[in-house]
Amino acid sequence: MDLVCTRCGEPWDVDYVLHEEPEGFARRGGRIDRCPVCPKVKPEHSREERERLDAIRELANLLGGDVDGFAATLEDFGLL
Ligand SMILES: [Zn+2]
Repeated sequence: MDLVCTRCGEPWDVDYVLHEEPEGFARRGGRIDRCPVCPKVKPEHSREERERLDAIRELANLLGGDVDGFAATLEDFGLL
């Protein structure tokens, strides 16, 4: 199961985020605000991608405390 960086859109495996390189992420629960491959300058996303990342961010704010449940919800909603 994956989480998604809400800044650049990169998918990350939950276990990697939580256990392999936790210091590489700016994260609050399941919401990743910055990841190890984030560009320095905020990326320009298409409207569609912006809407996807906004949806992920909103869901994370609601459900992100339960990281595994949140990752499953992203999959259910087709947001990965
Ligand atoms: Zn990123």
